Amino acid sequence: MVRIQDILDTIVEYNPDAELHLVERAYIYSAQVHDGHMRLSGEPYLSHPLAVAFILARMKLDSESIAAGLLHDVIEDTHTTKEEIERRFGHNIARIVEGVTKLSKLSFSDKVYRQAESLRKMILAMADDIRVVLIKLADRLHNMRTLDYHKPDRKVAIARETLDIYAPIAARLGIFWLKQELEDVAFYYSMPEKYAEIDLLVDKARDEKEAYVKEVMEKLKEKMSAEGIEADIKGRFKQHYSIYHKMLSQNLEFNQVYDLIAFRIILEKKAQCYEVMGIIHDMWKPIHYKFKDYIGVPKPNGYQSLHTTVIGPHGQRVEIQLRTRDMDAIAESGIAAHWSYKEGAAIDEQTGKTFAWLRNLVENQEESTDPDEFLENVRIDLYSDEIYVFTPDGEIKTLPKGATPVDFAYMIHTQVGDQCVGAKVNGRIVPLAHKLETGNIVNIITAKDHHPSADWLNFVVTVKARSKIRHWINSQEKERSISLGKEMCEKLFRKKGYSFNAMIKSGEMDAAAKAFGFGNVDDVVAQVGFGKITSLQLLHKAVPDSEKDKDKENTGEKISSILHKIIGNKRKRKSSDGVIVKGLDDILVKFSRCCTPLPGDAITGFITQGQGVTVHRKGCVNILKMAPERQIDVQWSDSYTDSYPAKIRIRATDRSGLLADFATTISKNGANINNAQSETSEYGNVRSYFTISVSSIDQLNKVMSELRKLKQVTEVKRIVNAE
Ligand code: MN
Repeated sequence: MVRIQDILDTIVEYNPDAELHLVERAYIYSAQVHDGHMRLSGEPYLSHPLAVAFILARMKLDSESIAAGLLHDVIEDTHTTKEEIERRFGHNIARIVEGVTKLSKLSFSDKVYRQAESLRKMILAMADDIRVVLIKLADRLHNMRTLDYHKPDRKVAIARETLDIYAPIAARLGIFWLKQELEDVAFYYSMPEKYAEIDLLVDKARDEKEAYVKEVMEKLKEKMSAEGIEADIKGRFKQHYSIYHKMLSQNLEFNQVYDLIAFRIILEKKAQCYEVMGIIHDMWKPIHYKFKDYIGVPKPNGYQSLHTTVIGPHGQRVEIQLRTRDMDAIAESGIAAHWSYKEGAAIDEQTGKTFAWLRNLVENQEESTDPDEFLENVRIDLYSDEIYVFTPDGEIKTLPKGATPVDFAYMIHTQVGDQCVGAKVNGRIVPLAHKLETGNIVNIITAKDHHPSADWLNFVVTVKARSKIRHWINSQEKERSISLGKEMCEKLFRKKGYSFNAMIKSGEMDAAAKAFGFGNVDDVVAQVGFGKITSLQLLHKAVPDSEKDKDKENTGEKISSILHKIIGNKRKRKSSDGVIVKGLDDILVKFSRCCTPLPGDAITGFITQGQGVTVHRKGCVNILKMAPERQIDVQWSDSYTDSYPAKIRIRATDRSGLLADFATTISKNGANINNAQSETSEYGNVRSYFTISVSSIDQLNKVMSELRKLKQVTEVKRIVNAE
């Protein structure tokens, strides 16, 4: 168990002026209120805040952070209130502890929208006071180190959450050691078999490569001393999770991962990094496209280094990183290295830049209300690698990997994005979907009357571009719906002997809009355009007497509005929920479009080139054509929550109200209609095709048997493989 003295000793080493008294008082108070509580491990509860505070001290944080670390669980787990903390320890510490408490209440492993909401709060907390998140990360690290005492299913859930949320945040903040430890412990608990497999392979490789590592190190050392350069040379194995991730994402075997060992040369001065790289390239032939200058162009989290890959002794590839001692410290501790322990010191430039990233993320989220969309956006921002491109004036812009000229245009300015019609990369015209690369000079061509296109959503990768394009499309759709709705209302009102426009002027329509719960006439008219309210319903609301001729209601409009209503409700489908791939927990799963499998169907998986696993129905003609060695066993998990598309065909003889009956039968049984097509032959034979969303094969069967009961229906069939 960590002792308070260990923490105080650590603080004094880097910050002799620290307010140790504050830390001691926090310790005494925490010990008092947690007294009698135990951890699952059987240790006194106090061991946890002590361990967290010790981690924070090793990150060289200020006294307030460390005191808050000691107190981080008191609001949640004891009777202490925020006011009490504030009275004893002041406003800042109370606010930080409250922030950590709020984050602790979030559950990331739940449904998508809860996860999105949680992540949003986490990011807001970061933008508010980064220390809240640093304490939360330290808290999670200690909980991961002591995870063994939890029940098995809790272990897996917590470990996954760590991989999904906490490790990427640590990475984004540049705290590399923390990211690595979180990843490896989480890997160990969430995929024990994979972990053991890699552990064994690394052990074996370590034996085999020991001599080789020694040889490379010796040669480098000899060369450095011959040149009179003082250097620290290290050779170490990639962490388990990185190896696993690389194998999975690039579809490699273990022995194909050539950069298992990274050699690192730590130098005194920046100029020496370039000098030494020149020397190494003289010794061993470099692979040119494998050279990266993160010194000239640092990563947004502050990381700096030169990376080069050369053909080393015996023709083997060797990856070498060169950096100064300062750069090395930043590469390990990221934002924490900049987060000055000198109390109240101004934020330095790099920290400011990192905050700018957070601020941008939060700002760009304000327009999106869809949690799926938010999560997708944050994921993109958290996980992707960056590229660096230039404006024609030579200004550097950082974009996620895969970014296109449209992303670049929106990064410059929303208006530039909205009006972008073309782009030049290094002076040559490229398509808007062109993927930019580091070093490109990008020139955007705009036209005043140009507008964003929905197609752009298929290739843009930045949050800003996405949310701005969606925003534009939504506003356009609304405008279109208003004018369509107006037209529909005018027509129907006229037919029934009323004047829609006169009723707007007289204010009668305002009352009707309010009765539907809308603030103004435009909003309710837009709903008519969307098909969510019929113009007749609106008329009845405005002139209640008109309801008498309800019987004569126009059935044509009714059918289309039922369909519209249902189609309007269709949910975006998530791709990877609901299926377990044997032995591989954390893999991207997609559902094939050719045979649209449903929970309950017998299924099989196909390993694609770098795109995870595609799930097909067993016996799908396409899977029969595919290489058997790439097929993999998959099964439905118990907890599928999504809806899946299924195609059905209905044959019937025509009668009035038939289509409406189909639609209501489908929706009555809880399924949504994504798409409907119907054709009637001149002899009155109807053939209708529906794509509907159902949650399982049972639900589909229920819908189909209900449809069969309808009058004049002769056949209802599920369609696979686009018959
Ligand atoms: Mn805790």
